[in-house]
Order: sequence, then structure tokens, then C-alpha cells
Amino acid sequence: MAEKHAPSDLVIVYHRQPYEEVEENGETIFRENKSPNGIVPTLKSFFGRVNHAAWVAWKEAEDTTDPGFDRVVEIEDSFGKYSVSRLPLTAEQVRSFYHVTSKEAFWPILHSFKERYNYDPVDWPTFRQVNWSFAEAAAAEAAEGAVVWVHDYNLWLVPGYLRQMRPDLRISFFHHTPFPSADMFNVLPWRREIVESLLACDVVGFHIPRFAANFVTVSQSLLDVTVLERETVPSDFTTEGTALSDRRAPAVIGYEDRKIRVVAAPVGVDVDFIESQAWAPETAAGMASVRTELGPDTRLILSVGRTDYTKGGIEQLESFERVLTEHPELHGKVRLMHVSVSANRNMTAYEEVQSGIEQVAGRLNGSFGSFDWQPVSLISTPIPFKDLIAYYRSADVAWITPLADGMNLVCEEYVASRVDGDGVLILSEFAGASVVLSSAVITNPFSHRSMDQALMIALEMEEEERRKRMELLRGAVRRNSVTAWADAQMASFGGLGKG
Ligand code: UDP
Repeated sequence: MAEKHAPSDLVIVYHRQPYEEVEENGETIFRENKSPNGIVPTLKSFFGRVNHAAWVAWKEAEDTTDPGFDRVVEIEDSFGKYSVSRLPLTAEQVRSFYHVTSKEAFWPILHSFKERYNYDPVDWPTFRQVNWSFAEAAAAEAAEGAVVWVHDYNLWLVPGYLRQMRPDLRISFFHHTPFPSADMFNVLPWRREIVESLLACDVVGFHIPRFAANFVTVSQSLLDVTVLERETVPSDFTTEGTALSDRRAPAVIGYEDRKIRVVAAPVGVDVDFIESQAWAPETAAGMASVRTELGPDTRLILSVGRTDYTKGGIEQLESFERVLTEHPELHGKVRLMHVSVSANRNMTAYEEVQSGIEQVAGRLNGSFGSFDWQPVSLISTPIPFKDLIAYYRSADVAWITPLADGMNLVCEEYVASRVDGDGVLILSEFAGASVVLSSAVITNPFSHRSMDQALMIALEMEEEERRKRMELLRGAVRRNSVTAWADAQMASFGGLGKG
């Protein structure tokens, strides 16, 4: 049996564990995540704001009734003391609820790729069962009236179950992905069950007002939901005329006898951390070696993303191919570093994208390259974040053109790292970040002309204009940093615990 521990005023439910578990001399050591970047440290920073906090995640076990590890461990690290409840799941349960249901059925719909939706292998009873177990684990940790903060679509049914188990709790759910319109969402046969669960929350959070508005229209398509309050979207949250901008957004909705707050708060980056890295001596050394490799007259175009059809990697390389065909004067003068890193190997959809990327990159290098110059450097191995900063600082252009993206942090990292105030960001209008980064060169990745023109505009932009835009971008990234997001979340909870 696990040792007795205090009930928690804040319970974070997130599928991944908040540390690295490593074996050292036959002993299990819990080590803080190596990368201080990303969402996990931000979520952990909430621990300091309460008397006691807990985190619920899954951990693989052969036998879930006798997992061979403590269900709950007490961790003490630089974020304070907190419990981690490890829900034992078999490899088959993880495959089913995460890799199949979440990635093959939900993910394409969330990103509006109906044609990629795969219903056949979904085992809905397993999805329900896993979500029920997450809810039970959270209920076991939560103090009376605690805030339970659930993250992402693979845990969509947790709020509904949790509300049944513990009506006293304050439940908040944050979506890290886009949320699609009703025409798209309602492809999911489990739509009503999912939406009813989300309506059991006190707060439902999204990156941008459009996703919140989509959630409300989806809810209204299925249930008798009313909009009780609407808000005008602040002007620095609308990029005039772009695909994802909205002027008004729903703020409070009503369902049965409940009121639910619908919050749009974009996750940002840790600007102070990135800036300190950008000034670090090892970054300067990294930049010097990038410059030596490039030569004095070649400009670097940088693209960084996961290997995923939503990221538009193939479409971007095809645009580069057209631009090099149209503009022979660029040959030998530009180089595209295309970083496309696979998060889910062995999934057919991603293998297809990887081989598509390799094909176009190979064709490009074969058609235009020479012994001295290769137009594309394709990188498929993850680059450590600290090294990535040196590339960000060296890149004349960051070319970030997803077909759909909840937010996109790479574009914000690029801006935050440009402490020198130079560099051009090209950004897809289908990335959530586009509503806050209006001074980027905004492009439509579904239009060849728009993509090709944006690259030429960026390459030809004068220094004065580059600096003017970068200053505005840097202001926006700072205003919408991860700290601002954390504060907005705190405010939406209406306070935490007894603190
Ligand atoms: N990243 C990295 N090394 C790489 C490629 C990506 O560290 O080689 C990081 C990048 O810095 C960013 C994250 O992966 O923090 C990707 O986040 P983003 O929101 O852009 O996309 P997601 O993968 O979450 O859809």
C-alpha cells in the first residue's frame, strides 16, 4: 500500500508523468525533466501556489491489479512537494486509448482532416474505461472543493465521470489542440457523450476565441445550451482579416442548471528563459559554427515541426521547389533547414508523411543541388532545445506553415530568441499563434501563390521593415508568454485552495 499523503487543493490530470524515471544502480530515481522548456514545467509551477498538489498520469504495467510499483509517490523537487498518482495501464490499453482512438480518430477531426479519420479500429469501451480510471485516480487525490485541471482530448470523458464521483470539485479542462466547427466535430459518433462530459466542467479552455466559439456551436448542435455572456475580443488578439480571427467570443454558457465559463488563453513560451539562452556563450559558439557551415553569403531559411500531416511539411517543400524554379538567382544563395521530427513512429499516417518529405527534399537536392550547394538540409532527429536556439538566432527567415495547429510554439520561440531584433517570421494563418502575431508575414498554406509570395517577401524584406516587425512580434510574444497564460488560468479557477 502507498504511504498516507495529504489531499490536494490542485490536481493536474495530464497523460505524461511530470519527471523522468530512471534506473540508477538498481534503484528508481525521479529526475526533473532535462528540458526546462515546454508545458510540463509550466504546469508544475502551479504547485507552489497551493498547500499540496497532485499530478495524475499513466504508467505502463503488465498486470494492472499488481503493477509492481507504488500507485502514488511523493516527489520533492525544485517545484515543491507533490504527489504523483500513477495509473497502471497495459500496453494494449495505451495503444487503444491513445494511439488509436485519440490519434487516429480524434486528431484528424480536431485538425479538420475528415479524410484521415479512422473509426474502424476504435475500441470505445476501452476509451471509457481508461478515462474512468483517470477520473477515479483524480477523485482519490482531491481535497474537498479542490480544482482538478484536466488536459487534452485523450481525457475528454474525465470531467463527466469526475462530476458524478465528486460534485464538490471545481473542474477545468484545457484543449492544447484546435477545436473544429460542428460540421467537422460531428463526424465523431461519440460527439454527444464527449460534449456532455465537457459541459460538466466549470471552465473549458482553448488557445483562441475561434476554438471556444466552435465548441459552443458544437454544444448547441447537440444539446440545449445557451450563451449567457459574450465578450469583445481585445484588439491585440485579432489579426485583421486572417482565417482564425474573431471579434466577439462567447464567455459564459448555460446547460441545465449549470454555468460554464469558456476561456480563450493562448499558451505561450517562457520568454525570460529563451532570452537567457539566446544570450548564452554556447549559443554564440553555435551561431558561429552555423555561419561557417553556411558561408558568408548564404541565407538560412528554417522550418521546424513534428512529422505530421497537420504541419504541412510536404506542401512547404513543394513551395520551395516552385520558388527555386522561378528564381534561379537564389541558387547557391539560400538554404532551407527543414527539421521534421517524428513523435509517433510506426503509425502509417506519419510514415507516409515522412516518406513524402524525403521524396520532395531528395528531388529538390537532385534537381537544383551541386557538390558545393544543397538547397535542403532535411533533419529527422530531434535537435536539443539549446542547439535549436542557435539555429533560431542564425535563421534569416523562420518559415512556419502548418495546415492546422492549436497554437504553434516554434514560431514564438523563434521570436523570443531574436534578442538582436532581426529576422523574418512567415506564419500560416491556420496556426492559433497567428491571431496574436499579426506582424508576421501571414500566409495561406493552401494557396501556392500565397506560399511562394510570402517566401519572396521575406527574402527581399529590407532591414528597417524586418526590425519594425520583429519589435512588434517580440512585444506580442512577451505579452502572451506562458506566465500570462498561467495567470489567466489561475484567474479562471477563481483562486486555489486555502493557500
Ligand atoms: N522541438 C525541439 N527539437 C526539435 C523539434 C522541436 O526541441 O528538433 C520542440 C520545439 O522547440 C517546440 C516543440 O518541440 O517547443 C514543438 O511545439 P509546437 O507547439 O510548435 O508543436 P507541437 O509538436 O506541440 O504540435
